[in-house]
Amino acid sequence: MLVFLVLGAAALASAHHSGEHFEGEKVFRVNVENENHINLIHELASTIQIDFWKPDSVSQIKPHGAVDFRVKAEDTDTVEDVLKRNELQYEVLISNLRNLLEAQFDSQVRATGHSYEKYNDWETIEAWTEQVTTENPDLISRSVIGTTFEGRNMYLLKVGTAGTNKPVIFMDCGFHAREWISPAFCQWFVREAVRTYGQESYMTELLEKLDFYVLPVLNVDGYVYTWTKERMWRKTRSTNAGSRCYGTDLNRNFDAGWCKTGASQSPCDDTYCGTAAESEKETKALADFIRQHLSSIKAYFTIHSYSQMLIYPYSYDYKLPENNAELNAVAKAAVEKLASLYGTKYTYGPGAEIIYLAAGGSDDWAYDQGIKYSFTFELRDTGRYGFLLPESQIQATSEETLLAIKYLANYVLEHLY
Ligand SMILES: [Zn+2]
Repeated sequence: MLVFLVLGAAALASAHHSGEHFEGEKVFRVNVENENHINLIHELASTIQIDFWKPDSVSQIKPHGAVDFRVKAEDTDTVEDVLKRNELQYEVLISNLRNLLEAQFDSQVRATGHSYEKYNDWETIEAWTEQVTTENPDLISRSVIGTTFEGRNMYLLKVGTAGTNKPVIFMDCGFHAREWISPAFCQWFVREAVRTYGQESYMTELLEKLDFYVLPVLNVDGYVYTWTKERMWRKTRSTNAGSRCYGTDLNRNFDAGWCKTGASQSPCDDTYCGTAAESEKETKALADFIRQHLSSIKAYFTIHSYSQMLIYPYSYDYKLPENNAELNAVAKAAVEKLASLYGTKYTYGPGAEIIYLAAGGSDDWAYDQGIKYSFTFELRDTGRYGFLLPESQIQATSEETLLAIKYLANYVLEHLY
């Protein structure tokens, strides 16, 4: 029998509308050995408000794995008590979230305004997309592929030398609002592309032979919300009919086994799949763009955090992609390149196998559209800071990731189809 403290429903009521405090909030990592343990976490999650960091939701917890989650200050004693009484192995990854919240802005860069070594808010990123385009007219052009629920522009930067019928690598960042390192990487990538073009032979060749389409922030509304209201927000900010809860998980909203597994049909959940595939304007805009450019897009990279993984299809099913052996070999080589700089260790493999089943993801969708090289990056770290990776790690994270991206891009160039 599980020992459990029954709490009132009051805790639940405040669940998704609590303000930003973070003082005394903790992030736990619990080792889950068996079904009993999973049931216990389910029970906890139904009693107190739990913000799952990894996996993304309670339904995705598997035996013999770990689960990272954040709890409010007033619930930390309850959680520790339940875990101890039931003899679950756990550690406190973050003992006071507020400290890390402040520590994430630790960049030594003094500059006001845009900086590649700082986290930039949306206004700053938006202005940057214009400025970097204006300053590099021979290499960058900017377009708008759609607007968000709240009416913001979704910018796309085309990076490469002039030319017709060039193969394309599509890369997006900022699916999940709280994964700030992701948009930071997309900005870094664009800067490195223009900075090293004509200087470094590898990048020069890539930009002459193909175009990178870079979408710096997909979930703009959610990103703005993490800056203004709730740092830990993940989803979009669309309203849901008949619910007081906001937002859909964009990475559960694609037409790839939509909402079959590892996704929620409840608008209050962080993995809510939406009312239908592509129900979100952001999903629709991205999917439409890719469909329109399918003949030229040869690879799709989508940048998330955290957990240091390079993932390829499938995540919506345990089936393996047709070119599994190739993807596995390419992923292995890419993570070796990545590790060569600072020794950062990545795991790699098909999503369902190395993390968990999750339907409706953009990587699976892109692959099923015929894009043979489709990868999800889960950037640093493995939980020490989680979504609150300090700014002082932007440079190292971006540089190592760039090595993997360049390797993959070159591989794609050598294996055009
Ligand atoms: Zn993510």
